[in-house]
Amino acid sequence: MSKPNRFYVVDLDRTTFRTKEGGDLMTAIIEEERPDIADLVREGAEHSVKTGNSFSIHALMSQYAGEAYVRHVENTYLARAAQMDLLHDGAREFFAWLDAQKVGYGILTYGGEKGQRLKLQAAGLSGVPTVVTSFKHKGEQIASWQQPDGTFTVADEFRYHQPVDEIILIDDRRSSFMHLPGGALGYWVTAHATDAYSSADVPLPDTVRTAATLHDVVQAENHRLKQG
Ligand SMILES: [Mg+2]
Repeated sequence: MSKPNRFYVVDLDRTTFRTKEGGDLMTAIIEEERPDIADLVREGAEHSVKTGNSFSIHALMSQYAGEAYVRHVENTYLARAAQMDLLHDGAREFFAWLDAQKVGYGILTYGGEKGQRLKLQAAGLSGVPTVVTSFKHKGEQIASWQQPDGTFTVADEFRYHQPVDEIILIDDRRSSFMHLPGGALGYWVTAHATDAYSSADVPLPDTVRTAATLHDVVQAENHRLKQG
């Protein structure tokens, strides 16, 4: 039997991207010029961590200071992010491993289009095919890609036009794995899993394993693939 064709679906916030550090950088830039808006951003961010809902700094700045100001802040943010490493430990190793495996992969991230694209740019991940989704349960979205024969046709934006036998979802939110269909498995990445959607009472399907970081995902996958 030929090897199953794998496709890795990777989360951005708190799995690969240092969301807190990115947010702190953005807030610091706004604080320098518009402390009034910085207060609103902090409130929004706190609320977002508590509830697990995404919130848009872009929309907030645009509303209070206009689009030209938004562009100014974003340019400053990207210039400073270029001097930092906004990727979590193991993320660089993980993407290099995916390239070496010659498998399909993409980022599936929940939130607003503009904000998520800015984070990708800040993290140096603009080259990775990305879908910005409004599905809170990514398992449900993955199920929607499954064909009657059990294979998956992933979203067009992933630019991967082959039938996929096995999807591996990697995410820091336990709730992302709800409704994950047969033929898909996952890794719950715990090191920075902080929001309400990762509380212990959110059940994990038994096809989902726990890993501290993306480095551990690489180790676990190498082990699993060797077992065949
Ligand atoms: Mg996340």
